[in-house]
Amino acid sequence: MSAHTEQLSQHPAFPNPPLPTDNNRIQEIDADKSANGDISATGEVFADQKKAFLENAFPDYQTRLGHLRTLYRMVEENTDALVQALNSDFGCRSAKESNIAEIVGSLSSIRYQIRNLKKFMKPERRRTSIWFLPGKGEVAFRPLGVVGVIAPWNYSVHLTMAPVAAALAAGNRVMAKMSELTPATSALVRRLVSEYFPAEVVCVFDGEVEVSRRFSALPFDHLLFTGSTAVGRQIAKAAAQNLTPVTLELSGKSPVVIGKNYSVEEAANRILWGNVFNAGQTCVAPDYILVPEDKLVDFVRAARSACQRLYPEGLDNESYTSVINHHHWQRVVHLMDDARANGAEVLPLLDVDPAPLSARNKVVPSLVIQPGPDCLISREEVFGPVMSVFVYKTASEAVQIIKQNPDPLALYVFSHHSDEVNYYTNRVSAGNVAVNDVMLQYLQNDLPFGGVGNSGSGKYHGKEGFRAFSNSQAVFTQSGPGNFTGLKLLYPPYGRITAMMIRALKFWP
Ligand code: NAD
Repeated sequence: MSAHTEQLSQHPAFPNPPLPTDNNRIQEIDADKSANGDISATGEVFADQKKAFLENAFPDYQTRLGHLRTLYRMVEENTDALVQALNSDFGCRSAKESNIAEIVGSLSSIRYQIRNLKKFMKPERRRTSIWFLPGKGEVAFRPLGVVGVIAPWNYSVHLTMAPVAAALAAGNRVMAKMSELTPATSALVRRLVSEYFPAEVVCVFDGEVEVSRRFSALPFDHLLFTGSTAVGRQIAKAAAQNLTPVTLELSGKSPVVIGKNYSVEEAANRILWGNVFNAGQTCVAPDYILVPEDKLVDFVRAARSACQRLYPEGLDNESYTSVINHHHWQRVVHLMDDARANGAEVLPLLDVDPAPLSARNKVVPSLVIQPGPDCLISREEVFGPVMSVFVYKTASEAVQIIKQNPDPLALYVFSHHSDEVNYYTNRVSAGNVAVNDVMLQYLQNDLPFGGVGNSGSGKYHGKEGFRAFSNSQAVFTQSGPGNFTGLKLLYPPYGRITAMMIRALKFWP
């Protein structure tokens, strides 16, 4: 500190700054003791990460690349252990589905960040108004600090790794809390991360909901939550206490519209795959289908054939994933029982004995035909291999049915006619859209992903992911002292030239 600043700091006009409020919040959180040691560990790790970040607030390209490569290596080298842990958590999680969604999904998200890192880190030039030339304006992407990630159970590895990769690429420190419903996987990832990374760079926590609740109260510089809309509300509240910005990846009922002239056989093939993958436990899984009135019978027939083609050996084998636990199995079965009790027809898509399947928390893929508005399945996200089917006469009637629920996370339209596709996309506010298929929009690393309204806010994946975890900092650089700058014409004392300039500025901003 120079002699000059020492003197200023002693001047009553420049009192010592108060302790950073972050520290106060952590002390508060840690002071509230709990039986679970993890809870106070979250506060300690947060403080360490924050300190480390303040010591190096702009990790360079090589450092970030190193972190991403380590993350990649961690997933790749432990593929078998991760797939096994997922299988033990689900009771039965198809190894192929774990490989596709969790392993390949994570590796491809990390690789995408690696490939684009240099480009993403580059400041972006912006237009400078003529009056400020030859000064220049640009956006610099600065790390935010410590990012929190809360992940759900349905793709517990991928939905932890993808945001962690984006946050590391953006130069942050990251803490992640994984789901209590996948205890084996969460414990394994926690251990692996501690072996591959120092805790001040990335740290993963497992444990019960209480840990998640306390975790969400930490004063993160950004918090990304993936989970249900109900819990999303609580997260938003907790984050608001610290003015922590949030990205909320939530839930909803994603509709499918089969257009008037689209082949119901082709649509059924694609929709069925999307619905039975991971036994329907996918946030963007098709939830209900709108079929032209005269095609209902053809669609049901096509859906049955599609299901038989997908599972020629039935469901009591390792290719078909179980519902995560008995509670969720009962929840899905109850949605069907409730629909039946309210007069709707429930059609299993395979003729199999459900008894041995129930014992393994497996649900036979089924369609619920035209459930009424009082049925629970018409309002609640199914999150299982069961879809409702509604018929429509006109496109406006189809939109009315969709509008009975809040804005969906995804909208699917099967049509070869752009007018018909646009009719739906212009009227239904959905977080994301796929045309002539389902779920594939999520798999595009370069497309932003997120919900709208009740299905979420903020986007990640793509460059939007990098930016969600960055401070997009506006930087204006004034020209050198010898250069003319138009702004000087607006300096006082004000006179005729100022008046002329104001007139000019109105027409030439
Ligand atoms: P959930 O909301 O019950 O839990 C998600 C996470 O939040 C868990 O890790 C849990 O520990 C934590 N949590 C629970 N209560 C909390 C609280 N009060 N405070 C802080 N954290 C808390 O969701 P889930 O059952 O794990 O996942 C299924 C839901 O997630 C479905 O509704 C699905 O649609 C949604 N989802 C959304 C996306 C997306 O990208 N939009 C992706 C996957 C799943």
